[in-house]
Amino acid sequence: MDDLSQSITNMRKKYREIFLTTVDAIKQRIDEIKPENLDGDIFDNFESGTSGENWQKAVLKMFEEDISKEIFKKWTEILAYRKNFHCKGCATCCNLACSEFSPEELQKKAQNGDNFATQFLTIFVPYNSKSEAEKIYPEYIKLLDETVEEPVYFYHCPKLNECKRCSDYENRPNICRVFPDNPLSILPESCGYYEWRQEVEPVALMLHSMVEIIDYYKSKIPNTKE
Ligand code: SF4
Ligand code: SF4
Repeated sequence: MDDLSQSITNMRKKYREIFLTTVDAIKQRIDEIKPENLDGDIFDNFESGTSGENWQKAVLKMFEEDISKEIFKKWTEILAYRKNFHCKGCATCCNLACSEFSPEELQKKAQNGDNFATQFLTIFVPYNSKSEAEKIYPEYIKLLDETVEEPVYFYHCPKLNECKRCSDYENRPNICRVFPDNPLSILPESCGYYEWRQEVEPVALMLHSMVEIIDYYKSKIPNTKE
């Protein structure tokens, strides 16, 4: 198994472990505010005005007012920590951008007001063929082939010059300035933010699992249903 596949496999394994630990931690916080002597589960249908229904409301309030804010604060800290790392100019992110959307689909999204699609299309143009993209980052394309069933489209930026430098660096768009803004995105080892990603990955995975778990609770607690 090559390094990239290995690191994805490790990330999935870590995520499973972190997810289970987070399930326990959130359940404990829910149980801590459960009224004494209340029989029943957080997903039960309690009568209106009962202590059971009040518990469900308190749990939802805790998600909104405490846990969501904790997630946001931690995520902001992770992104601020990124400032300690710097682009090394390997040009991979300019030379190979992947999207689940075809150029036509991106056009449609942009016409419908999708801001990211609009910015993306002002920067990137599609490769003429997959084999052209393969020359840039062959391990990554191989990994996508093995793990993603849906089609993936490959793009590059024509502003990258022959010396692998941005020819309009001072005016580069915002999505170039903030890249990589997701600590869970796949980065090549040549990327100056690779170490940042490695360091913050466990916390980012935990935050991701918290979002998934509270979304699950919110969809299943009867109080939230119309
Ligand atoms: S505009 Fe510059 S920084 Fe942005 S993708 Fe193109 S070459 Fe890279
Ligand atoms: S992949 Fe990382 S190091 Fe390479 S150009 Fe992009 S941000 Fe810079």
